[in-house]
Amino acid sequence: MIHAYAAQNPSGKLEPFEYDPGILGAEEIEIQVEYCGICHSDLSMVDNEWGISQYPLVPGHEVVGKISQVGESVKKLQVGQRVGLGWYSRSCMTCEWCVSGDLNLCQTIESTIVGRHGGFADRVRAHEGWVIPLPEGLDPSSSGPLFCGGITVFNPIVQFNIKPTDRVGVLGIGGLGHMALGFLNAWGCDVTAFSTTPDKEAEARALGASHFINSRNHKAISKAANSFDLILSTVAADLDWGTYIAMLRPKGRLHFVGVAPSPVSSLIFPLISGQKSISGSPLGSPATIAQMLEFTNRHHFEPMVEEFPFDQINEAIAKLRSGKPRYRIVLKH
Ligand code: NAP
Ligand code: ZN
Repeated sequence: MIHAYAAQNPSGKLEPFEYDPGILGAEEIEIQVEYCGICHSDLSMVDNEWGISQYPLVPGHEVVGKISQVGESVKKLQVGQRVGLGWYSRSCMTCEWCVSGDLNLCQTIESTIVGRHGGFADRVRAHEGWVIPLPEGLDPSSSGPLFCGGITVFNPIVQFNIKPTDRVGVLGIGGLGHMALGFLNAWGCDVTAFSTTPDKEAEARALGASHFINSRNHKAISKAANSFDLILSTVAADLDWGTYIAMLRPKGRLHFVGVAPSPVSSLIFPLISGQKSISGSPLGSPATIAQMLEFTNRHHFEPMVEEFPFDQINEAIAKLRSGKPRYRIVLKH
């Protein structure tokens, strides 16, 4: 039996929950969970905010641990190896997106906590293609967040060929946003943090921001017009998107990874006259995850985490709901 923590109903507390995972699939890996980060998406899933949750729901998709079992056809991974697992746990490996390397765009992709049980548990399973070795040199206690939050903000840098000469704004300095500051700074960009929390300024600068703008200060915001090549939104709230589109330079892009609850609309003329784009993206492919881990290691970047024992999971979730973590909570066995 796998010993996990599950919500039994929308917005419910997490309670101990056991399930039988059955026989290990030929291409499956079982991971003994050592650490698991808590992402805002875990909250959205517990609350059934996106209408796709199934209960009992075992959240957790920023796993680091050691392989405890491998299926009989697994070739590249071994028992005892330290690995990570993120939001995705299986893709078809045969569609045009999988065979061309964009596995995260597979149309039948499986998410670690949608219709199956995730990493708030002693063990979790996934297809070998989505289990990524953790390089020597990365600290397992702070690396879980790289597997969801980290790759989500690293992937747009690769997808859109962000250049070291680019000026980039990051909206929301939370779990995803604080990692975006580190990556973009190491990439060479001029980085601006937009935050509703003025207390975060010193840490945001230490993480890699050269500029800090209080996003509730309308004067400061209006001064930033026509400044950015990329604005990356990690916020799960509705903002005045027209203001941020006005902050883009010609050819600039407003890119969403945070799930704003309402539809996003824009006047078309600013998009046409400045040849600007609005876009979004999900996580990243396994190859890009491996690339991100190598980049993180090379630049000695480390997510800032707060550790909670697994048996204080509800206290940890309450802290994330309050918006207080600096900057990612990681559960530890
Ligand atoms: P988080 O740790 O809660 O951080 C979100 C940050 O947004 C907060 O720290 C806060 O930063 C800011 N914020 C919160 N409420 C706000 C408001 N009303 N107005 C303006 N800013 C506000 O969340 P996270 O784990 O980083 O996740 C962020 C979003 O990304 C979620 O929607 C999550 O579901 C999504 N996500 C998407 C993907 C993907 O593949 N696209 C992957 C993972 C997560 P300040 O204090 O600096 O304002
Ligand atoms: Zn996540």
